[in-house]
Amino acid sequence: MSELAKDIKRTDDEWKAQLTPEQYHVLRQKGTERPFTGALTENHETGNYHCAGCGALLFMSGAKFDSGCGWPSFMLPAESKAVVEHEDKSFGMRRVEVTCAQCGGHLGHVFPDGPKPTGLRYCINSASLTFTRQEP
Ligand SMILES: [Zn+2]
Repeated sequence: MSELAKDIKRTDDEWKAQLTPEQYHVLRQKGTERPFTGALTENHETGNYHCAGCGALLFMSGAKFDSGCGWPSFMLPAESKAVVEHEDKSFGMRRVEVTCAQCGGHLGHVFPDGPKPTGLRYCINSASLTFTRQEP
């Protein structure tokens, strides 16, 4: 089986036991943390951003940029298969939701107004991420 830990499925109670209330709200209930409140929005350290639900590597610090939008923003995921994009028509808007490919946890949205070269802005909740600093 090359599909390592793909398709992690847990019950709601298991997620609740594993996650903090804020992580649970964002990852499992598609919540959004208030802008400029997340622990990682202003994080400029070198390292990797993993899914707070399952630990999958999602983003790397080299792709992070200051978007000013109030959430951690990335130009691209660590690899294209790390995240899944879905059309989201909630709240009367057309947006593209981004979820973790491995556990299905809600991460945030991707917008087509990012910097070059990708032109994308992955706008991700801090609560969906855990950061691992890379030692120099
Ligand atoms: Zn995950």
